[in-house]
Amino acid sequence: MSFAILRPWLLLVGFVTAFFAADPAKAAPRPATPTEFVVVVDPGHGGENDGCESPDGTVREKDVTLAMARQLRAELADLLPHATVVLTREDDVTMTLAERAAFANRVGADLFVSLHANASPGHGQTGYETYVLDVRASTLEAARTARRENDGALPAPGADDPAAVALRQLASSAHRRAAAMLAALVQRAQGRRFPGRVDRGVRQAPFDVLMGVRAPAVLFEAGFLDHPDESRVLIDPRRRAQVVRGLAEAIATYFQQVHVRAGMGTGTDGR
Ligand SMILES: [Zn+2]
Repeated sequence: MSFAILRPWLLLVGFVTAFFAADPAKAAPRPATPTEFVVVVDPGHGGENDGCESPDGTVREKDVTLAMARQLRAELADLLPHATVVLTREDDVTMTLAERAAFANRVGADLFVSLHANASPGHGQTGYETYVLDVRASTLEAARTARRENDGALPAPGADDPAAVALRQLASSAHRRAAAMLAALVQRAQGRRFPGRVDRGVRQAPFDVLMGVRAPAVLFEAGFLDHPDESRVLIDPRRRAQVVRGLAEAIATYFQQVHVRAGMGTGTDGR
């Protein structure tokens, strides 16, 4: 075969090689390092603050949230091995909401996930919901949930004026957009795993624990611990593991969409 015949082929190979090398979309995703993604998981309540309880009074919210948080850390170690996952509390200790937010800021949280279980006045409600911060509650129920969770602990003395903190948080529209994206992913992942349970959707409310966090922050109400049937989802280790696995998958998807894609130059919010 003469060089004259080979030359067009060599040119074509060279062109194709150059094309793919120049296309950023074909580049490998930027590897994540621990400093790039810190997840703070906040087990709601603790110590003197039990939160709500199961119908027979034997299981307390503070124990359910701590078990979920420990398991979520283990799941994320599998799904996001390069991420750093820290818990606001490791044991049954009392912590104010302001201390939890301050902890998240101190460790440089990229994401803050507060875990809770719900309760309703008539003990008849069921379902899971994810909250993002807003100064006004989206519904009366959302307002009641925020009041119950906020009443659990007094703000630390000398804590910032909540209104000023809320304004600062609300000014960060990128954080709010990212939190809303994660909240939707959390709800979707639960819906896939529990098609028979009630999807109460993404809601907004003024949660004190979310206010001071300088990162996208959500509060997940995993289910109603005071409901006779639904409490079993949170108490039975196998079913609770499914709840946590869904949560971990949602966080991993969020990381892919926001951090990896943003790292490849598709925009800071991944869109
Ligand atoms: Zn709670």
